[in-house]
Amino acid sequence: MKKFLIAGNWKMNKTMAETAQFVEDLKAENPANPEDMALLVPFTDLVTVRDSLQGTGVKFGAENVHYEPSGAYTGEVSVPMLKEIGVDYCVIGHSERREYFNETDETVNLKLKALLENGITPILCVGESLEVREAAGEQTFVASQLVADFEGIPAVEAAKIVVAYEPIWAIGTGKTATPEQAEEMCAFIRGVIGGMYDNETANSVLILYGGSMKPGNAAELLEKPDINGGLIGGASLKASDFKAIADAAASLKC
Ligand code: PEP
Repeated sequence: MKKFLIAGNWKMNKTMAETAQFVEDLKAENPANPEDMALLVPFTDLVTVRDSLQGTGVKFGAENVHYEPSGAYTGEVSVPMLKEIGVDYCVIGHSERREYFNETDETVNLKLKALLENGITPILCVGESLEVREAAGEQTFVASQLVADFEGIPAVEAAKIVVAYEPIWAIGTGKTATPEQAEEMCAFIRGVIGGMYDNETANSVLILYGGSMKPGNAAELLEKPDINGGLIGGASLKASDFKAIADAAASLKC
C-alpha cells in the first residue's frame, strides 16, 4: 500500500491561541486518515499543538533546529529540547532558511545527523530556483543537494528521512509544478537515493511535493507513483483546506 504524509508547514504564522483554535477546527473536520497528517509549527506553538492534538493521531513537529546539543547559540533551539517536547518531525533545509538564514548543505547535513541520532524524523527540503530550471539545471542541482545533505548517513538512517521536493519558484507563488514535472523530479530523487544507497532504501524514503499544493490540485499530484504526500504552506493554515488535501491522499490509499 502506498504511504502518504500530508504535512502543514505553518512558517511564522499562528499564536498559541490561534493554534488551539486551528486544532479544534481540524477535529471538527474529522479527517479520514489523521495518522498520515502532521503539523509543523513555530517553536512557541509546539506544546500547544502537542496537547491539543492528544488522541487525534495527527503528528507534529518543528520547522528548524540547531545541530549542537547545547551551548552558546543565542536564540537557537536544540534537538534534546525538541525531543523533550516529543516532536515526531523537524523540517530541515527549507528554501526560506537556505535563502534568508544562511542554511547550507553542510549545516543541513549536521542537523539531519543530530535528529536521526535522537529518533526524530527529518523532513529534508530540496529544490531549484526558477533561474536553475530555466537553464535546465534542476536535476544536477537537486542531485548535488542530496549528495551533500546525505553525506555520511548510513542506509538504515537514510531510509527514515522524508524528502520534500520544493521547487522554489512554486513556493507561495500560487504557481504549482505540473504533476508531470513534480513526478519527474520525485522519481529522479528516488533514483539518486537508490544510486547512493540501494533500491530498498530508496523505496523506504517518503518523497513529498511542496509548492502551492491546495485542495484543487492535490489529487492529481498525489496520484503520481513517486509522490508520497505534500509539504503544504499557505493551504495548511485553514483547517478545511488542510483536511481536503489529506482526504485526497486518503482516497488514493489502496
Ligand atoms: C512550503 O512552505 O513549504 C510551501 C510549499 O508553501 P506553499 O504551499 O504556500 O507554496
